[in-house]
Amino acid sequence: MAILVLGGAGYIGSHTVYELIGAGRDVVVADNLLTGFQEAVHPKARFYRADIRDRQAMDQLFEREQIEGVIHFAASSQVGESMSDPLKYYDNNLGGTTVLLQSMVAHGVDKIVFSSTAATYGEPERVPILETDKTVPTNCYGETKLAMEKMMAWTSRAHGLRYVALRYFNACGAHPSGLIGEAHDPETHLIPVILQVPNGKRAKISIFGDDYPTKDGTCVRDYIHVSDLAQAHILALDYLLAGGENNVFNLGNGVGFTVKEVIDVARSVTGHPIPAETCPRRAGDPAQLVASSDKARTVLGWQPKYADLETIVSSAWAWHKSHPNGYHA
Ligand code: UDP
Repeated sequence: MAILVLGGAGYIGSHTVYELIGAGRDVVVADNLLTGFQEAVHPKARFYRADIRDRQAMDQLFEREQIEGVIHFAASSQVGESMSDPLKYYDNNLGGTTVLLQSMVAHGVDKIVFSSTAATYGEPERVPILETDKTVPTNCYGETKLAMEKMMAWTSRAHGLRYVALRYFNACGAHPSGLIGEAHDPETHLIPVILQVPNGKRAKISIFGDDYPTKDGTCVRDYIHVSDLAQAHILALDYLLAGGENNVFNLGNGVGFTVKEVIDVARSVTGHPIPAETCPRRAGDPAQLVASSDKARTVLGWQPKYADLETIVSSAWAWHKSHPNGYHA
């Protein structure tokens, strides 16, 4: 029996495939390659170029392969874009997941682990955030991910499907092998954008707002290494395979860093002065997002290995330095 990874050519998906193959699992990857890269797919995975909105393609996959569980990363994931083009998010994230679940139900595939996000919480009432805290997304991306969680819950009640939703905080870093890493076009995430400065692709980093109610006025985020996230997906899948019930887990380090602190760490890792300038706030940004991941640690036995921000930024720098143009270097 194989594990089907949807969106396995993307950033977190490709790292999860590497962990699965490393653990000796049989892996099938499907990706429409709109934002993913075929070069990121592990050579031992069986690859299908397919879109989850395509019912026929999904049906063919489940007929051709013996799938025991699905890990679902196939979604649009840019906060800013979700505010300017919300219908793209409803179409790809909700439309796509609707078709996927219809096909899974029709083929008796009843276990799914999927990417959710800290953006489901919106502006938190307190930090660290617990899974039971209120969910009031401040952007359309978070809204569609929360709706995907609810779609799983209703599908579970009606058809017996079981799911785990993993709410990631800020994914970053790159695989220790240096073979795969983060590559978005355009790149919007803080750490890869900072590293464009020492890579000679950008003159300075823009800090989006320094008047937040935080220790230095810049936003606080919880940065978690992509390989630690990948490991959590395997643990969540094994939890479902062992009969675990529907569940939601936060995944973060539980430690918050300001934008200025991240820039300082990048300066020390790269040895580059990385000039910075303060710009207006970015729409939809909560001041602080820090996870409590106690539940994932207790229930799944998850233990992040790359808790230190220097190590995380160093792994990202190793990838970006050797792949200044991502997979098209
Ligand atoms: N950020 C910034 N400059 C940039 C990119 C991001 O100041 O060029 C800030 C952003 O406002 C947020 C934090 O860095 O407070 C993390 O942003 P990112 O887009 O990496 O992740 P998000 O928290 O939005 O998922």
